[in-house]
Amino acid sequence: MTQSVYLALGGNLGDREAALSAAILELRAFMDVRALSRVYETAPMYVTDQPAFLNMALAAETDLPPLELLDRLKALETKIGRVPSIVNGPRAIDIDILFHGETQMETDRLTLPHPRIAERAFVLAPLADIAPDLPVPPEGRTVRTLLEQVPGRDTVIVVDRPEIV
Ligand code: ADP
Ligand code: MG
Repeated sequence: MTQSVYLALGGNLGDREAALSAAILELRAFMDVRALSRVYETAPMYVTDQPAFLNMALAAETDLPPLELLDRLKALETKIGRVPSIVNGPRAIDIDILFHGETQMETDRLTLPHPRIAERAFVLAPLADIAPDLPVPPEGRTVRTLLEQVPGRDTVIVVDRPEIV
């Protein structure tokens, strides 16, 4: 069954624009990408001693079930040049599944919806471009409302990157 999914993309190593562009091109090969956010330059969270990230969000339609989609995204990350690193550490490209239709699951490999949307300005800001009224668990406040309140929203800045399509 075709589902609407929302993905978060980010990277902070090498040519960040090229990595985002490559990821979107690869995603379009197997998903129907419906909306792209603007591109944001964001200060690193958690592990702060690393370069700034570029982050985006996108909306797409897919027939792939959640775990199959995750496998495809992990393969894509590897193809684009991600090498194993520490959790929350530097990476050429990270692609997270924020929402997969109405799916709610919590397993070792995959938690849906993504459990840290509400605390991440670098996810909320791009997501607000394409889905401001989407309710976010656990409280169900909208992306727009969460973005107004999240710490660090001043460290998330729109950049002009016309070369990313
Ligand atoms: P980060 O937490 O910085 O995104 P990774 O990209 O290495 O780190 O992800 C670690 C693991 O998180 C992945 O291998 C994946 O199995 C798991 N994971 C759990 N929920 C999700 C999700 N919603 N989207 C993507 N990965 C997820
Ligand atoms: Mg990830």
